[in-house]
Amino acid sequence: MNKRKLYIAIFIISVLGLAFIQYKYLEIGLNLAKIQFNRKIAQATQDIKEDLKQKDQLTFLVGKAITQDASFFKLGLDSVKDASSHYLNDFITERLVKNGIETDFSYSLVAQDSTDYLTSPKVFRENERLNRYPIELNGYLPSLLDKRLILELHFKDINTYFLFQLNGLTIPSLIFILAIIAVVIWVLRSFYWQRNVITTTNEFVNNLTHELKTPVFAIGLATKILEEDISDKKKPIVAIIKHELERLNGHIDKVLELGSLESRKNVFQLTEIDLLPVLQNICEEFSALTALEGIAFSFSLEGGPYILKGEISHLENAVNNLLDNARKYSDGAEIRLTANTFDTQLVIAVSDKGKGIGKKDQKRIFQKYYRVTNGNLYKVKGYGLGLSYVKRVVDGHKAKIKLESELEKGTTVTIKIPLLKR
Ligand code: ATP
Ligand code: MG
Repeated sequence: MNKRKLYIAIFIISVLGLAFIQYKYLEIGLNLAKIQFNRKIAQATQDIKEDLKQKDQLTFLVGKAITQDASFFKLGLDSVKDASSHYLNDFITERLVKNGIETDFSYSLVAQDSTDYLTSPKVFRENERLNRYPIELNGYLPSLLDKRLILELHFKDINTYFLFQLNGLTIPSLIFILAIIAVVIWVLRSFYWQRNVITTTNEFVNNLTHELKTPVFAIGLATKILEEDISDKKKPIVAIIKHELERLNGHIDKVLELGSLESRKNVFQLTEIDLLPVLQNICEEFSALTALEGIAFSFSLEGGPYILKGEISHLENAVNNLLDNARKYSDGAEIRLTANTFDTQLVIAVSDKGKGIGKKDQKRIFQKYYRVTNGNLYKVKGYGLGLSYVKRVVDGHKAKIKLESELEKGTTVTIKIPLLKR
């Protein structure tokens, strides 16, 4: 639960960090763009200033307009103003474009005493934030009026202009960040949903098995009573009932035990033990069993004693599960158990020369209820619980488990448990 919060926190911080970096980049980009823009403007204003010095067609026309002298053209004064306004506009546009500035602008030609002489055909709205670049004109025009004359260029707020230009980058990066957020949320949701399903399933199975206990117990009792006065001829039938009931009970216990291990209510009670006699015992019992079935079983327990911190019953069960698997899935081929100490570890290996497990299945073999699906799945009885239980026990003892297997060659399961230092 805490880990979950940690992950979510890391995720949020990462996304915020990413957004912040994006923002910083944008800021840097904007500043660079502004510097560049100002440099271009400086160059363009220089050009404009230079070209408006002399008397030529343009300045002559503008001169007539600002001195309000329409006589030369035989036109109305308004027409002269209008024409020169357009003419000047084209001229400025051309100079700006030449210097790499292609954005809307307006201008006004103003005298020092703030008389407006000429304005561009297109003007921005009153309330718009504008950046102003004044150019003081020299030469022909100011001398015509005998006043200081300023040509002022207006551009829309640069920030909005550049933000618009950078949209090509900001929008995709925003979309990508949103996509990452969406995918992570989706993954988290399905993960927790799945975990929920697993928990509910486990709870259901545990409850169900618990419920099975009562009838099993009742049947056991009834069978015992039945056994007492029954004809010898029918005794074997009761024996079968008893035997099968014992098996059923065993399975129920297995499920319950694993369930309680999983819910972590029942953590392992680790005490200092010697596993050597325990293993010796297990091997001898297993020898007797395999001898009955005609399976070759050998074992060697070396380097004892095996002093470690553990819980005998669970370790016993774990080893028994491995031996049980070897017996079930080796089709009568030989089985071997070895144990030895290396440095600070006890290494127990159970190997068989059975049918082996395919690479794909090896990854899932430790999952609860997982069984390899092949032709004789139902010939060999099992619930797919053995190895998942073994894994729990191994984890609870800070031990390691390794499974090596090759199809048709055999399987070796190795457990390494840390020994107590002496
Ligand atoms: P249970 O142990 O609960 O009675 P199970 O033996 O089917 O049932 P696991 O012990 O978890 O369950 O084993 C899972 C599967 O792994 C088995 O069904 C079997 O297909 C495969 N398996 C396990 N051990 C071996 C082995 N030594 N050789 C070949 N296949 C094996
Ligand atoms: Mg098993």
